[in-house]
Amino acid sequence: MKERIHKDVVIIGAGMAGLTAALYCGRMNLDTLVLENGLIGGQIANATDIENYPGFVSVKGGDLIATVQTQAENFGAVIDEFDEIEKVSLKTSPKIIETQEKIYEADVVIIASGMNRRKLPLPEEKKFSGRGVHYCELCDGHAYDGKIIAVAGGGNAAVDAANFLTKYAKKLYLIHRSELRADDFSQKRLRANEKVTIMLQTDIKALRGDKRLEEVEVFDKKSGEVKTLSIDGIFVNIGVEPNTQLFKDELTLTAGGRIPAGEDCKTEIAGVFAAGDVREKEIRQLTTAAADGTTAALLAEKYLAKLHETK
Ligand SMILES: Cc1cc2nc3c(=O)[nH]c(=O)nc-3n(C[C@H](O)[C@H](O)[C@H](O)COP(=O)(O)OP(=O)(O)OC[C@H]3O[C@@H](n4cnc5c(N)ncnc54)[C@H](O)[C@@H]3O)c2cc1C
Repeated sequence: MKERIHKDVVIIGAGMAGLTAALYCGRMNLDTLVLENGLIGGQIANATDIENYPGFVSVKGGDLIATVQTQAENFGAVIDEFDEIEKVSLKTSPKIIETQEKIYEADVVIIASGMNRRKLPLPEEKKFSGRGVHYCELCDGHAYDGKIIAVAGGGNAAVDAANFLTKYAKKLYLIHRSELRADDFSQKRLRANEKVTIMLQTDIKALRGDKRLEEVEVFDKKSGEVKTLSIDGIFVNIGVEPNTQLFKDELTLTAGGRIPAGEDCKTEIAGVFAAGDVREKEIRQLTTAAADGTTAALLAEKYLAKLHETK
């Protein structure tokens, strides 16, 4: 039989949102557990040169997140990265989180499980990741001022990224394997920019370079032509996968698989909060993840105070 353990707060995910929530919950003396099924730090764990997190001129993702982890642990939050969650029941009171080894009963659950960005399905992707292959224009676009940039993808996210990157690019290629799906306004804006070349029905076949990305090889499916483009960086926007599989029978999800919750991070279930990139919102950055973690934790404390008053 699995051991049953009560917690004030269980936080699912130890990225920036989850660890910030843990820091605040710990500091409010709430009995707090963070469950992580991958790498502590989430998406930012391996990123280099973060230059837009206030308070740091430039910081490595691993160093930034290790500091937040230390802060959370110093305030008493416990982080368990080895016990995987098998099942959650969020509509019960208390809420139940069953892991491989234990059953946690929690008054509050903060879901901070983030998302994964779909990677370019090429063997060289790993070699050039962060060295010319990027997934976040708001994060890394600035490094390509005056350079030749490519964007991969054809949905709204890709076309919006391309429009944004034209502020830096000397020349920009938008490369997509079929036709554009982005809204008319964004497409028109992109097409009107003379720096931009749109390459549709085009597959990216290879990435090349010595230490950094220098070229992409593309295949024009209509003409059958293979071309090599000299570029400095490519921003990949071919979709994201929010980590919400575990919650799909408990919470209504958006069409894109995210958790609908407003700025207060409250979901449709009282005592269940969604924080960070897993929450449906427009801007997904470290600062907004930290802001969500803060909000969720502070409102969790209010929720708990009320819950204890009525008991
Ligand atoms: C390469 C890269 C560079 C970036 N650079 C910047 C930058 O310079 N500046 C900036 O502001 N933003 C940057 N971002 C965006 C930023 O990293 C994210 O917005 C932020 O990290 C989101 O944090 P999060 O905690 O919401 O989610 P995540 O970082 O996705 O963390 C979620 C965590 O939850 C865990 N998890 C998922 N499912 C479960 C489960 N079932 N059980 C337990 N744990 C689970 C995951 O393993 C993960 O650790 C970058 C993103 C990438 C990919």
